[in-house]
Amino acid sequence: MELITPLQEITRLSHLYYSRQWMFATAGNLSTRDEVIPTQFWITASGKHKGELQETDFVCVAVSDGSLVKAAEGLKPSAETSIHQVLYSQMPDVGSCLHVHTIDSNLLEFGVGKEEGFREISLPPIEIIKAFGIWDEKPNLTMPVFYNHTHVPTIANEIKRYFTENGIPKVPFLLIEGHGPTVWGKTIKEANKHLEAVHFLLQVMARRL
Ligand SMILES: [Zn+2]
Repeated sequence: MELITPLQEITRLSHLYYSRQWMFATAGNLSTRDEVIPTQFWITASGKHKGELQETDFVCVAVSDGSLVKAAEGLKPSAETSIHQVLYSQMPDVGSCLHVHTIDSNLLEFGVGKEEGFREISLPPIEIIKAFGIWDEKPNLTMPVFYNHTHVPTIANEIKRYFTENGIPKVPFLLIEGHGPTVWGKTIKEANKHLEAVHFLLQVMARRL
């Protein structure tokens, strides 16, 4: 069996998501917690084309405050690093966060207000929900949907506020309206499974509009 490193695994996913039209051009960002030092994570560098991403196109960031720990010359962390930082700091058992810009997720409109910051939106109780480890026949689930502030750290602060007020969401993902979903999992494989399920779910919701 071929052994690959976490960064190679994430790089493969980047190419796969690009081919699925989930990460056009430089859109989206993928990260994985450091296997040896769990207080750090690796995230795609800013401005890298996701169809051509290489395993050297990652920078290392501190979970505590998002400060840069390690980066090859010329590489900067993704503009949305603060969102990943909040997710890793709020959920110590999370090993990977994946954020993409899918077309279907952008078709969904909930009208979350700028001042409001976020809102819980009901999810249809369809079979794919089982991919999140939820086995109720008719689960009464919601997902947190956030306002797409231009200043990304403001979104990150709203996510932190959501976690403080509501706890960890029952579903392993959140949506930024008019932007895209972010999912998480204990491993890269689990996060990928969650992302595929989220894509299916949001696609169903978009087609019901
Ligand atoms: Zn984004």
